[in-house]
Amino acid sequence: MGLVVQKYGGSSVADAEGIKRVAKRIVDAKKNGHQVVVVVSAMGDTTDELIDLAEQVSPMPAGREFDMLLTAGERISMALLAMAIKNLGHEAQSFTGSQAGVITDSVHNKARIIDVTPGRIRTALDEGNIAIVAGFQGVSADSKDITTLGRGGSDTTAVALAAALDAEVCEIYTDVDGVFTADPRVVKKARKIDWISSEDMLELAASGSKVLLHRCVEYARRYNIPIHVRSSFSGLPGTWVSNENPQGDAKVEHAIISGVAHDVSEAKITVVGVPDKPGEAAAIFRAIADAEINIDMIVQNVSAASTGLTDISFTLPKTEGHKAIDALEKAKGAIGFDSLRYDDQIGKISLVGAGMKTNPGVTASFFQALSDAGVNIELISTSEIRISVVTRQDDVNEAVRAVHTAFGLDSDSDEAVVYGGTGR
Ligand code: ADP
Ligand code: ASP
Ligand code: MG
Repeated sequence: MGLVVQKYGGSSVADAEGIKRVAKRIVDAKKNGHQVVVVVSAMGDTTDELIDLAEQVSPMPAGREFDMLLTAGERISMALLAMAIKNLGHEAQSFTGSQAGVITDSVHNKARIIDVTPGRIRTALDEGNIAIVAGFQGVSADSKDITTLGRGGSDTTAVALAAALDAEVCEIYTDVDGVFTADPRVVKKARKIDWISSEDMLELAASGSKVLLHRCVEYARRYNIPIHVRSSFSGLPGTWVSNENPQGDAKVEHAIISGVAHDVSEAKITVVGVPDKPGEAAAIFRAIADAEINIDMIVQNVSAASTGLTDISFTLPKTEGHKAIDALEKAKGAIGFDSLRYDDQIGKISLVGAGMKTNPGVTASFFQALSDAGVNIELISTSEIRISVVTRQDDVNEAVRAVHTAFGLDSDSDEAVVYGGTGR
């Protein structure tokens, strides 16, 4: 029996009962002969509550202090979980990200892991302990300050530790039975997927399926770590995410469509009245990049012949909205545009599947489904295995259900179960 890394999300440890339930599961894995490393998130919506609190004291809190605050959430759950395990008669020790050797760069609020040196975790395991690690946090190699890995970052902590400790599997325990063909909170008829390729999962995660974080899937793909996403509330097998299909490609065909993802966490900025000449787009996106903001979709309108001016729209995380507007306003003189428009009432719907490469009708059917549902499209972007559109936020749920049905993804058996969480 080898080493397993198990990650429990906030909804799985939302209260004392949840922590005790999870402790039993962990002890069972240990009793089955595994060495067990557990990564735990903050209880329930603690992280959101801490963010709300910070905003009440300061509209733009300093990154360093913000990270100090947020990491407190995971500290609470790791210590409580270790106590609950000890109470069941087993040895457990909790570790902060820093103690566990999670080394990052120094970009506060969205640090990247650059190394994992889990010496203390190894020692704890060798001494017979279950090791509990606070997710979502690390320590900067340069400044030695505490950092966080971005929302949902505990998934990444788990895979990074699994890679560093050469674990046989990284189990991600959450409040649904696995990865579904759409968010079960929106589509009751969503179907559980038994296996999904890292490639398709990467696109789903990047398109907003928060059941797994994009960076975590990227990491798992690079280090070839199989992920098993499953519920901490049921004993059911979940979804395997891996580079190779465990049954061999011959037995299970690649689905044409893996699923429908949606995302309401983005906003749209339109730069109005940009002179239509070389270097303008470069100047706009240089200003955004210098502010360390990642953008998603971009569209440039045809310029009106009479004015020689054009509009450029792009989407970005809502949380970066203020920063982006500030950065563009500062560069307004140099870039030379008329005005900025900010719209945070947008939503994005994406259809993902490796089979798209070879099925030319997919795009047409996708747009038809949206049109039949009366949904207006504002932006479009595509990759080899994904089509995404931006619509009004109010239309998103309806659009997801329409597309899910149109592609024959609706399950004809039971409704998908959501065991916990608030969906926040
Ligand atoms: P945790 O607290 O365990 O990290 P998250 O809230 O981050 O849980 O992720 C689990 C949630 O992801 C589910 O409750 C579900 O609403 C949402 N979700 C979105 N897309 C999907 C999908 N395709 N399959 C399963 N869950 C999804
Ligand atoms: N607690 C953090 C968050 O809510 C990290 C995580 O749960 O993965 O984003
Ligand atoms: Mg999560």
